[in-house]
Amino acid sequence: MATVYLGLGTNLGDKPANLQFALDSISGQQIGVISSMSPVYQSEAWGYTSDNSFLNMVVCAETELAPEALLNACQRIEIAAGRETKSGRDYADRVLDLDILYYDKLVLHQNKLSIPHPLIAERKFVLQPLCDIAPFFVDPALGNTITDMLMACTDKTRIQKIELTLR
Ligand code: AMP
Repeated sequence: MATVYLGLGTNLGDKPANLQFALDSISGQQIGVISSMSPVYQSEAWGYTSDNSFLNMVVCAETELAPEALLNACQRIEIAAGRETKSGRDYADRVLDLDILYYDKLVLHQNKLSIPHPLIAERKFVLQPLCDIAPFFVDPALGNTITDMLMACTDKTRIQKIELTLR
């Protein structure tokens, strides 16, 4: 059994419903039991320009899946939510994005999968919700806590906590 942190994002369609779909899919046998979930943040698009703001959150889950199987499960959930194709190298609007942030203390660099997710330290929309649920988690690649990473982050993209009730 592994403890994983997943980053969820959506900026198209019914965004609260997309997050709820992701939560239901994660816990509905696809990935495992959700042990904690962060508040939801509204954020500007990161790395590209879009009129559609994002909703982002982070969840912690317990899973029996190996890392590659977890990535496949995340991609199946994205597609089931209505995401048409993976965006590849370019950032684009998306119905649902599921990123594997951490998988226990694993450090892995493969073609299709890097863990920890390579951009955590640069993204406030990931670090802030992560800090809400795991402030003292130590990044296995950097050796810093999430709190330290958030304090050191220079990302100027605006994020704002919103009231959204998810199950
Ligand atoms: P995205 O467009 O953000 O969904 O990600 C595009 C690609 O990133 C996916 O096809 C994955 O193969 C790759 N990837 C590499 N590392 C990760 C990770 N930790 N979590 C999710 N996707 C990853």
